[in-house]
Amino acid sequence: QTVEPILSVNNIEVIYDHVILVLKGVSLTVPRGGITAILGANGAGKTTTLKAISNLLHAERGEVTKGSIVFDGEEVQALSSNLLVRRGCIQVMEGRHCFGHLSVEDNLMTGAFTRKDGAAAIKADLDLVYDYFPRLKVRRTSQAGYTSGGEQQMTAIGRALMSRPKMILLDEPSMGLAPQLVEEIFEIVKKLNDEQGVSFLLAEQNTNVALRYAKYGYILESGRVVLDGEAAALRENDDVKEFYLGVG
Ligand code: ATP
Repeated sequence: QTVEPILSVNNIEVIYDHVILVLKGVSLTVPRGGITAILGANGAGKTTTLKAISNLLHAERGEVTKGSIVFDGEEVQALSSNLLVRRGCIQVMEGRHCFGHLSVEDNLMTGAFTRKDGAAAIKADLDLVYDYFPRLKVRRTSQAGYTSGGEQQMTAIGRALMSRPKMILLDEPSMGLAPQLVEEIFEIVKKLNDEQGVSFLLAEQNTNVALRYAKYGYILESGRVVLDGEAAALRENDDVKEFYLGVG
């Protein structure tokens, strides 16, 4: 890669509760404007990797004990997750995490909390979110908790967009969704990447869909990267086919 990556994770170790070593030296990069996937089975360390980047581990008694994380040219390990959002890197958590009792639109507006620009700019971005997610416009006054799983995932991504991110860390966007909705969401991710230049790092157990939309993938097993490569090459790799794509 000749251009400086927007994110580089360099040989990080993560320990929970002072003793449980979960990431054993993980390195990865995301090129500016790229879509990169972290793949692997349940428990491989995908969520932990994303939380290490966005500094969300301490709530679970986890800490990065080695290595470095550089986002947009700056070492970010000492930054709180809110400061990181201000720098342009935001995580969409697994399981959507909408405020169930708030309307869809109020959920989206909570995403603008770090912004200091005016109401007009925020309104313009709300319209942009509705352009990408027309379903959310239809459902804007509905209580988020009563919308479908797909709509909640869209609300969670839309809320992240309201912070005007350069990069979104997307944890398991396909989880619990019907295949058609999974495609719909990944198509929107691709459009946001193409048209708005948002970079994505996504953690997915659904290797098949992830390797169709990402350009590059890292496969994690027990806290280590065991294989990485261009998505097209990974799709043709015999081990990936056998263990992750379900074709023997
Ligand atoms: P999933 O698809 O379930 O999110 P994952 O690949 O994202 O899986 P992680 O959630 O990062 O995996 O978990 C990696 C390992 O760390 C697992 O063995 C898990 O049991 C362990 N782990 C996760 N959170 C904690 C915690 N708070 N305390 C101790 N161990 C943890």
